[in-house]
Amino acid sequence: MKSLVVGNWKLYVGTIPEGKKLLRSIDKKFPRGSRALVAVCPPVPLAVALKKEYGGRRILFGTQDVSYDADGAHTGSISPVTLKASGIEYVILGHAEKRALGDTDEDVSKKAVAALNAKLHPIICVGERERDDEGSHFSYLAKNVSVSLSRVESAHASRLTVAYDPLWAIGESDPPAARVVSEGIIFIRKTLVELWGRDAAEKTRIIYGGSVNAESAKNLVDNSHVQGFLVGRASTDAESFVSIMKAFT
Ligand code: PEP
Repeated sequence: MKSLVVGNWKLYVGTIPEGKKLLRSIDKKFPRGSRALVAVCPPVPLAVALKKEYGGRRILFGTQDVSYDADGAHTGSISPVTLKASGIEYVILGHAEKRALGDTDEDVSKKAVAALNAKLHPIICVGERERDDEGSHFSYLAKNVSVSLSRVESAHASRLTVAYDPLWAIGESDPPAARVVSEGIIFIRKTLVELWGRDAAEKTRIIYGGSVNAESAKNLVDNSHVQGFLVGRASTDAESFVSIMKAFT
């Protein structure tokens, strides 16, 4: 399975001209021989406009959320079917910032199914809010993963990415030690095995998010079990984002 580097542009990039400039710059600096898939996830109108204009193939497009309703009387929602029809391929679900606004594990699970039905690739964010010395964050993480994926059939395992994106690691100056990232990823894999059995669980990509930067990416790739990164701030600086991609060359 290919690794995946995802740029979550959040609301850091606000207009189409700004988005075009950043995209052009990433595309221009795109590292030769990168073994990772690369997706950028701007806000929906930007994602659709940029995808339409982008003539290349190496950058894929995603968004930062989607409705679990595919159609009907749901004012203000965006259907996964509309995203897919607009050339979008990936969708981040259950990001900590959406969970803080009320998204539950159940909601995330329903969104994942709707996204899969529309042939999108969900990137499902999980991760504990805080850690303690007794390790009780692992029971939080186990429930977080198993309920967020509870409606997803194991047959879809290979179309899913799980992002270990713990709230305590987001927005810091550096990510935690590779050992800590590794521990989280191994634990998530174990939870997937309990949910689906080993064969299916091995097919799901597990990436890490939380303060990844140009300086830390290579060390994490070499010393943890990451199969990619979810990148926030550093994804809106072309130089930094491309350096992170280079960790997979
Ligand atoms: C995030 O918000 O999921 C994230 C990884 O952000 P940052 O890279 O800025 O910590």
